[in-house]
Amino acid sequence: MDFSLTPEQRQIQALARTFAREVVVPAAAGYDQSAAFPHPIVSEARKLGFTHLIAPEAYGGVGLGPLEVVLVAEELAWGCAGIAATILLNNLVAEPLLIAGTKEQKQKYLALLRESPGAYALTEPHAGSDAGAIATRANKTADGWLLSGRKTWISHAPEAAFLVVFAKTGPEAAHKGISAFLVERGRKGLEVSKKLPKMGQRASSAAEVVLDEVELPADSLLGNEGDGFRIAMKVFDRSRPMVAAFAVGVSQRALDEAVHYATQREAFGQPIHQFQGVGFKLAEMGMRTQAARLLTREAAWKAQQGQPNTLEAAYAKAYAADTAMWATTEAVQVFGGYGYSTEYPVEKLMRDAKVLQIYEGTSEIQRTIMVRELVRDKRW
Ligand SMILES: Cc1cc2nc3c(=O)[nH]c(=O)nc-3n(C[C@H](O)[C@H](O)[C@H](O)COP(=O)(O)OP(=O)(O)OC[C@H]3O[C@@H](n4cnc5c(N)ncnc54)[C@H](O)[C@@H]3O)c2cc1C
Repeated sequence: MDFSLTPEQRQIQALARTFAREVVVPAAAGYDQSAAFPHPIVSEARKLGFTHLIAPEAYGGVGLGPLEVVLVAEELAWGCAGIAATILLNNLVAEPLLIAGTKEQKQKYLALLRESPGAYALTEPHAGSDAGAIATRANKTADGWLLSGRKTWISHAPEAAFLVVFAKTGPEAAHKGISAFLVERGRKGLEVSKKLPKMGQRASSAAEVVLDEVELPADSLLGNEGDGFRIAMKVFDRSRPMVAAFAVGVSQRALDEAVHYATQREAFGQPIHQFQGVGFKLAEMGMRTQAARLLTREAAWKAQQGQPNTLEAAYAKAYAADTAMWATTEAVQVFGGYGYSTEYPVEKLMRDAKVLQIYEGTSEIQRTIMVRELVRDKRW
């Protein structure tokens, strides 16, 4: 088994690492405080191709795959998970187009993603984990669709040039009655309401979206009618390794900060890492971070090979997110009272980690997927 990266993969990883250290880290605390969208950083990232990594070169993208995305995601999230999410979310929005878009849709919307953010709108006030229960409705008209409903927690809705919106076109068919639509900003009846205040990843925006009888042309349907749920789940198989990689980056940063602090801080006449109670925390953080990284890369590698990866993506997402939450909490503990101070970096890591257990499917939902896949596997 060959764990090494190709020269091209090492190159993009190094580019992201340098960008994280030189551009992201110096700006991270400021955006965490202001919760402003980091436009200047996203512009710089765009020049390096990070906002459109997976779109094929024919559509103006870099033409890379899920494995390169996780390499970049880990490095950027090491610098700041909120900024990493802001830069890389466009890759999530590109996925449904790559999975189900016509040539014309890809040409138009992947070009838009090259210049501005897009958004992925599945969640509703009364339907998050239970995506099949969404109530947004698209009714067929003589020349298109009429879309009405309400979405919430939609990342980058305030800045997005368009949204991929999931809506019921045939509610009687449950999951099979969901379809996906491309909804451009500026359409009458589309309103992005409150920007939601957040605990962490504050450089990444999220908002509510109201759709009040939005008229859409027929060609705004993405894929076939009734394909929406299948598209959404396929997207998750590819995007969950990216979120897992954010978590690995956050865990690695927590470990690096904790190791550095534990070699500098003295108590009872010696550096605190020499106390087994502290040293073993560092060892455990290193071990779990590396395990999360390997799960993440395997899940991404399978997607890159075109192999089914639903189980591996769920393993990676849940394990890496849970590890990030645990490792950042341990890092705060290693820092003692200073860990609790906003003047040190580790409390932000802890706040940034929490949502990794929630978005793109909660840690509980990942476990329900694991059970389903394990039972289906029939190895027993
Ligand atoms: C910062 C942020 C950004 C987001 N960005 C987006 C976005 O861009 N687009 C988008 O569509 N959505 C987005 N979301 C929404 C996110 O995906 C949902 O919040 C998430 O899927 C959980 O749904 P919920 O909040 O409705 O919680 P619920 O589904 O109500 O879950 C509440 C609790 O019940 C548990 N639970 C529910 N069902 C089960 C079950 N079957 N078994 C065990 N436990 C269960 C959950 O794990 C959770 O602990 C974002 C959320 C946040 C916080």
